Amino acid sequence: MDPDALYSDVVGKYGRHINPYLARLMSFAGFGVEMRAEGCYIWDQEGNRFLDCLGGYGTFSLGHRHPKVVEAVKRQLDEMALSGKAFFSKQAADLAEKLAEIAPPGVEFVFFSNSGTEAVEAALKFAKGMTGRVKIVSTEGSYHGKTLGALATTGREKYRKRFEPLMPGVVFVPFGDAEAATAAVDGDTAAMIVEPIQGEGGIIVPPDGYLRVLRDACDRHGALLIADEVQSGLGRAGDMFGCNHDGISPDLMPLAKSLGGGVMPIGATMGTKAVFESIYSPNPLAHTSTFGGNPLACAAGLAGILVLQEEGLVERSRIQGAKLKGGLQDVADRQNELVKEVRGRGLMIGVEFQMDEVGELVVAQLLKRGVCVAYALNNPKVLRFEPPLIISDSQIEDAVTAFDEAVAETAELLAAIA
Ligand SMILES: *Cc1c(COP(=O)(O)O)cnc(C)c1O
Repeated sequence: MDPDALYSDVVGKYGRHINPYLARLMSFAGFGVEMRAEGCYIWDQEGNRFLDCLGGYGTFSLGHRHPKVVEAVKRQLDEMALSGKAFFSKQAADLAEKLAEIAPPGVEFVFFSNSGTEAVEAALKFAKGMTGRVKIVSTEGSYHGKTLGALATTGREKYRKRFEPLMPGVVFVPFGDAEAATAAVDGDTAAMIVEPIQGEGGIIVPPDGYLRVLRDACDRHGALLIADEVQSGLGRAGDMFGCNHDGISPDLMPLAKSLGGGVMPIGATMGTKAVFESIYSPNPLAHTSTFGGNPLACAAGLAGILVLQEEGLVERSRIQGAKLKGGLQDVADRQNELVKEVRGRGLMIGVEFQMDEVGELVVAQLLKRGVCVAYALNNPKVLRFEPPLIISDSQIEDAVTAFDEAVAETAELLAAIA
């Protein structure tokens, strides 16, 4: 099909059958139809190549279609695709053992699902079940998903308000404020849920030792600590898990995004033996999922973690992250009337602008220059750079050059209309 005809066909169908309002937003921003992807690149219907610095919000840590993950999934597809559910699954068993090996000490059990929000739902449900309490402490600006339970703990009114009442008992405290969290966690608290680094909130890095204080506060009151590692986990932020930075073990740890090796969707709720005993000993079927832990997704997950380890991608996240952050910082220093701050850990990097509208303009300018990024869902002033951990030095240079030009052109545009 001719590229223009293909574009109108797809966008038309989005308008008529998926979401006309989102379709309008996406075409306004200049996004085409994704046709093909490999490594750090995505190609659109016109054959334009984009350096993927959004990385599916952290999904593509290994890049697109890593050959070892694709191979594992193809092999699995020829044996068995989805679980028959009555039998044991070798793929689920192997992935669970691997996850327990890399997780913080004591986090050794896994419930498998299909997405981040499902992984969070299970964590909240397990915490309520184990403690018999209803209060959940969460943080302002947080993002934990959009199903009703996870949404109740998501710290942004815009997504919650119309759907209330949601799950009762949730209170919010400012992110990174250990004192506020300590004051909020009490004898009625089932759990505190927190991202080690806020992703959608705008790549907000808390002070060092923050999670350690939360760990102590939860321990004092018999509350559980849920570290939502859906975005920060598996090397993204320069450690295997974001909570490794403070050297703590959570009671529950939702994972998803990059867990499927960038090839399959999968969610996982990891937890301690105490939590899983408390939930499953009275009822082995207390929480289940038809598709969760299916052989295709688990084969992808295991292959993905092996690649992460074999290719040293956790360390690479730190090294390449420092280079990218340094490059963006140089631009920020020169363009400080537009760019307020560059921050982050590993390859979880945010660029905050001085004004709201700038983010959107810079996204469009970057896209014109073949670099794909997006602003944070809960904070449109912040662009996040979460490229594959395999990103090369020259690709980092390309991204920084494009960012430099995009900010300069945005500055000119703004000066012209001022
Ligand atoms: C993306 C995200 C989720 C939700 O994951 P979905 O797969 O989109 O449901 C939950 N928590 C965090 C920290 C996330 O970044």
